Amino acid sequence: MATRIGPTTWLDESTWSSPNYTPAAQVPNMYGQPRKITGVTVHHWGADGQRFEDVANYLSRTGGNTSAHFVVEAGRAACLVSPADAAWHAGSAEGNATTIGIECHPELLDGDMTSLVELIAWLEGVYGSLKVYGHRDWTQTACPGRYYPRISEIVSRVNALRAGGSTATTIAAVPAMVLPVGDARVSQDFGQNGTQFNLASGGHTGRDYAVPTGTQVHASLAGTVVWADWANNLPGGDTAAAWANRWYLHPSFGGIVVVLDHGNFLTVYAHLNSTSLNRGDTVTTGQVIGLSGATGAATGPHLHWEVLPKPFAWSNGYYGRVNPTQFRNNYNAAHQRIASAAAVVAADNEEAELANRVDELLSLVKDTKKRVDIIWGGIFTEFSYSGKKGTNEPGIIPTLKTMKAKLDDTKRRVDIIWGGVFTTYSMTGKPGTEQPGILRRLDTMQKEIDQLKTEQKEA
Ligand SMILES: [Zn+2]
Ligand SMILES: [Zn+2]
Repeated sequence: MATRIGPTTWLDESTWSSPNYTPAAQVPNMYGQPRKITGVTVHHWGADGQRFEDVANYLSRTGGNTSAHFVVEAGRAACLVSPADAAWHAGSAEGNATTIGIECHPELLDGDMTSLVELIAWLEGVYGSLKVYGHRDWTQTACPGRYYPRISEIVSRVNALRAGGSTATTIAAVPAMVLPVGDARVSQDFGQNGTQFNLASGGHTGRDYAVPTGTQVHASLAGTVVWADWANNLPGGDTAAAWANRWYLHPSFGGIVVVLDHGNFLTVYAHLNSTSLNRGDTVTTGQVIGLSGATGAATGPHLHWEVLPKPFAWSNGYYGRVNPTQFRNNYNAAHQRIASAAAVVAADNEEAELANRVDELLSLVKDTKKRVDIIWGGIFTEFSYSGKKGTNEPGIIPTLKTMKAKLDDTKRRVDIIWGGVFTTYSMTGKPGTEQPGILRRLDTMQKEIDQLKTEQKEA
């Protein structure tokens, strides 16, 4: 059972419950000060690719010595320990006594950030203004990784969300990441063959697909082209800064290389036979960005594909690269959750709009004091303004009132509540059919009523 706490985020308060905490009454004994919530501490759960469920299970384990109040990732949060009590997360008496610990998805996809912001905004609604700390503000640790340089962004986004008040925000649908050459055979996966041609200590920094020269290569996601040329032409020099400037791409390795920037991360496509892109071009998801080949350090035709999340972790053993399969799985799972959140928000917005319109129509109908049974596209031809005594015919005013009450009450789709009239009608109409939908019906009705009002004024 989950409750929506923001435009994209559901909070699950019942699946997990961690025994690892200090009850509020014992906090003064344990930490030398009472439990008083003045902030949140942001954590990351460390390893890219690790699952939300596993982290929540681990923090809820029996006899554990660590925990957190919340675990959060794109689209969802889980409460493990009530904020009323002190979870064991900060490695500091003050941190544990005064803050709410939040464990975040380390990869920090856009959706992870959005859900963290929504959770903190929701907590502020309950506990008042909260200072945002990173774990390393309390003790020496690398935690919260990619979140730490973005604490001030978190604060300003929480404030903006709180200032906006409403949670009825529109969320743009974001396409899922696609594979660059479909389900072609993988000839060498990420992390394999650490000793051969791979200079990174962890082994192969990408995923190789065995495809014949001339195979179309597709952009994994929409983005901006930041490199589309021979790797030999990458900026020179052998300093750390120069290497970072060329994304740790070796000039003799990649042959013809395309690098795409997706905002939060880059994708790299190497050993191409050709590309017609230029730096600064934008590409859409799935667009052909070049043809595969065997240029650069390649023993045969293949596509080498990489994912580099930001901020770049050049010393992660893979020159900042992560397992592209894991990354894509996480990304697509996150965006699935965001897409379903977006659908709910859109439905909510439609309902809110419908409720407003019904309100408006109610007042207009009262105002004109005229029968409107002629104006609802024929449906009400037999219906009177206030219902016919002694018949089942409910009349328009009582029906609108029922509709309004049900909308207020249930906040649910109303195509089932109009006494059977709209049983098969959707909110906005079904594409490709004559079925006009309730919102469009209301539009027609509105127009007719406006006309009646004008006629009345002129009369
Ligand atoms: Zn931490
Ligand atoms: Zn490779």
